[in-house]
Amino acid sequence: MANCPPVLDFTTAKAELSKYDRLDGVSAAELMQTAQFGGLTYSDFLILPGHISFPAGQVQLDTPITKRITLKTPFMSSPMDTVTESDMAIAMALLGGIGVVHNNCTAEEQAEMVRKVKMFENGFIPEPVVLTPQHRVADVKDIKAEFGFCGIPITDTGKLHGRLLGIVTARDIQFLEDDSLPLEQVMTTDLVTAKAGVTLEEANQILRASKKGKLPIVDAQGNLVSLLARSDLLKNQSYPLASKSVVSKQLLCAAAVGTRPDDKDRLAKLVQAGLDVVILDSSQGDSVFQLEMIRFIKATYPDDRLQVIAGNVVTREQAASLIEAGADGVRVGMGSGSICITQEVMAVGRPQGTAVYQVAEFAARFGVPVIADGGISNVGHIAKALSLGASAVMMGSLLAGTTESPGAYFYHEGKRLKKYRGMGSIDAMEQNTKAGDSGSKARYYSESDTIKVAQGVTGAVLDKGSIRKFLPYLHLGLQHSLQDMGVLSVQKLHEGVNQGSVRFEKRSPAAQLEGGVHSLFQYEKRLFA
Ligand code: GDP
Ligand code: GDP
Ligand code: 5GP
Repeated sequence: MANCPPVLDFTTAKAELSKYDRLDGVSAAELMQTAQFGGLTYSDFLILPGHISFPAGQVQLDTPITKRITLKTPFMSSPMDTVTESDMAIAMALLGGIGVVHNNCTAEEQAEMVRKVKMFENGFIPEPVVLTPQHRVADVKDIKAEFGFCGIPITDTGKLHGRLLGIVTARDIQFLEDDSLPLEQVMTTDLVTAKAGVTLEEANQILRASKKGKLPIVDAQGNLVSLLARSDLLKNQSYPLASKSVVSKQLLCAAAVGTRPDDKDRLAKLVQAGLDVVILDSSQGDSVFQLEMIRFIKATYPDDRLQVIAGNVVTREQAASLIEAGADGVRVGMGSGSICITQEVMAVGRPQGTAVYQVAEFAARFGVPVIADGGISNVGHIAKALSLGASAVMMGSLLAGTTESPGAYFYHEGKRLKKYRGMGSIDAMEQNTKAGDSGSKARYYSESDTIKVAQGVTGAVLDKGSIRKFLPYLHLGLQHSLQDMGVLSVQKLHEGVNQGSVRFEKRSPAAQLEGGVHSLFQYEKRLFA
């Protein structure tokens, strides 16, 4: 102990750090260099903690998913027929993310799902369902059964722009037993209306003050031009993070298509239904078909209202092709999905951490956001994907098994489960013959093939309850994670990673064991309450 260094004055602890030529840990770029001849994935590394000077609730998770669309949370649901149909897409958008409606169905069915999402919430309802005074109570009940609402304006023509004569609402028909009564006998004619040209704020104010459920908007001649619903004010209040179009206030909706000629017709139907984002769904996105499709979409829908997310890719070279063709966002992942056997069967793919880092680092130079798709099985993985440069994550298995995912629950060995399957599983490829050459068959199976080679499996996942609880858990968990890193937002995280102030460290297999629950005889893992 003879040559112990002298004990320093404790007030110089921070100054002492300046003697080191770098911060503890390594930068993201250095982390990736350590794996120069091999890829890393989420479990292979950790992020070192930073300095906390703010509450977790202050962490902002706003993030772009395409050049033009920014969401309040970085969550997307996969275009899979056991994950995203309209219920999931509505809930995802209400909670600040976005759902991608799958295409393992006919174009008409997919367009109907998109339309349901777009109709769910409105500012001014631009094309409300309208009837004539001669229609019957039964017609209103049919509309209620089909669309879920029954606040129906009545005009002389039974159409928008006809003269407004009255309105029928649930209360007008609630206790009626005679469904054949004409609506002129039940409609309310003493109406509170607002004049066309009124702003949404003013119209909302009139609606609130009127204490009515609906506010018809009429032109100077008394013709109906649009409608406002009180329930939309409540939806706006209840879901402050909702992903919505700035003008229409409708929820944002994404949907998947393939790259076959008939996918162009499918896309036209989806756009007609109000689609905001199209995802070109291919397991290997760097193909002449996809490049042609991107150029076609950009030429056919030139006003940038329809955004295109291309993919999937895992290398810079693949991404460069898609970015140059005009992609507004790039989706990254090949073989990382929980249901996926692509790497096993094709011997092609890349560990997801490296794939996300390399593509995101390159795409950022062009302002193109990257979506980390597949392999996300907990909040930590989301934080790691973002720390490697992804702007958002796409989740399949994590959102499957929720109330909003398609399919019924079933019991197996006492556990409540829902089916979850890869879109490249034989099961999914064979399911929907009506989908023709589109859908999952197009993604994983060429028409010239005589047998189907599976790239995915069929399985089941545990009941997770509603995503209305689960997504807020992911949201808060992610805020806590960024707080631990000492960064106030996803944008600050990306800046810190680029500047090298957010630090990383590789994890040995022993460190990975240490970082999980260990040394217990038994335990219960409850993630939130
Ligand atoms: P917000 O109040 O934070 O939602 O700010 P926005 O800029 O999105 O909304 C502007 C105005 O539109 C406000 O008066 C909102 O209350 C109103 N608004 C927002 N979403 C909706 C909606 O879905 N329906 C209706 N009728 N009004 C909405
Ligand atoms: P209602 O009272 O039965 O008409 O239903 P609510 O007012 O509770 O809900 C109507 C919901 O459907 C709102 O979110 C509207 O924006 C939406 N919606 C979409 N299209 C229409 C339409 O054509 N008519 C009506 N009444 N609502 C529509
Ligand atoms: P998860 O979140 O379950 O890990 O992965 C979901 C992602 O896996 C999807 O978004 C999609 O990109 C991908 N995927 C879905 N089905 C299949 C499949 O059958 N094979 C492969 N290779 N990937 C799939």
